[in-house]
Amino acid sequence: MTDIPRTPHATPPEFVLCFDRDYTVDVNPPRDRQAVPLQWVKYFAHSPDTQHIDVWATGNQHLVSEAGIPGIRTAKALWDTVNIPDVEETFDKPHDENGEEISTYKPDRREGLRMIKDIYDPVEGVAPSFVVVDDANLIALESEGWSYYQPWDFVAAIGDNTAEVTVPESHGFCNQPVISNNCTCNTAFEKSFFDPRKFRANRSEI
Ligand SMILES: [Mg+2]
Ligand SMILES: [Zn+2]
Repeated sequence: MTDIPRTPHATPPEFVLCFDRDYTVDVNPPRDRQAVPLQWVKYFAHSPDTQHIDVWATGNQHLVSEAGIPGIRTAKALWDTVNIPDVEETFDKPHDENGEEISTYKPDRREGLRMIKDIYDPVEGVAPSFVVVDDANLIALESEGWSYYQPWDFVAAIGDNTAEVTVPESHGFCNQPVISNNCTCNTAFEKSFFDPRKFRANRSEI
């Protein structure tokens, strides 16, 4: 394991992986089926060999601290900042009895995923593949450009080398949460993700 941290924002990713947590990752595995090992999520997010991959927590947000990855809060903030027009209007927000929008509104699962995709989509020259792994059935998102896996199918696809991404036999990441004292990984767990603002700024300097 190298201790060179991956550089945040350096290049746009080729793949954007979104992971649910409960009944998806093995910190809270499904009862009778295979879960995605936490160490794989850590590998995708933090290895110097996976700088072409962005990883987001799109289910239970405990995965944010367990895997050291960005989640819905980061996505929402970034999305608000890049000010993508007309996306928020497409969300079906709850209203109170007076017809006012409820301001504590929190994006639901699919909206969170759409928001993440929208962060990348309008940026010229950026066209990653989007993958979501979730025990909840999100197959409907495939018509919006996502690849959807149930967790056990993702595990099988990694095993068969048929997934969009691969996991080497020895990747050097342990299966402990990154916030745990038992984590023995010798790496920097920066929440590294593509930032379209920095990308645009870098390009305009050229
Ligand atoms: Mg779940
Ligand atoms: Zn570790």
